[in-house]
Amino acid sequence: MNDEEIRLALEQTKAIRKGHFRLTSGKHSDTYVQCARLMEHPRLTNRLAAEAAHRLPEDLEIDLVISPAVGGILFGFAVATALDRPFIFTERVNGVMVLRRAFEIPFGARVLVAEDVVTTGGSVQEVCELVRQNGAMTVAVIALIDRGGSRVFSDEFFPLLRLEVPSWDADNCGLCKDGIEISAPGSRTIAK
Ligand SMILES: [Zn+2]
Repeated sequence: MNDEEIRLALEQTKAIRKGHFRLTSGKHSDTYVQCARLMEHPRLTNRLAAEAAHRLPEDLEIDLVISPAVGGILFGFAVATALDRPFIFTERVNGVMVLRRAFEIPFGARVLVAEDVVTTGGSVQEVCELVRQNGAMTVAVIALIDRGGSRVFSDEFFPLLRLEVPSWDADNCGLCKDGIEISAPGSRTIAK
């Protein structure tokens, strides 16, 4: 798949939407990202994950794929399927990223961290630290979409799609000035 086909697939499944949106930050934007919509289509999710895995450096040695719950799980599972490697996920308990369900990170394992959308990568960074605490090493981070924030992790990063999501204050919104109806997809109500 080329970059245009990838972008089209994400737009057609409404994982990426164009319009007029109020983000959870309160700012307005013409773009809204909700990767879960892609996961409604398992075969397409597997295709995109396989493409992302295919774009990793050939000499990258990976023993294990790990994702933060909940967003990263389906993508990480699909990446692990494509790579034919084991997959586990982390969860947050009282705000702390941990392994549950008797999951283990083998000592010395080379671990690929997989996330659906990365903005600053705060969760990714917590997973990376958990991997290192277990005596293993992170070899790279893979994601479906890089939303272009200033990243907090230093590992090599392989997003399938780099996406600029511009946002601005409500009182400085050209779409509002044009009277275009706004939606707030992060909540259940349509706000003005
Ligand atoms: Zn607006």
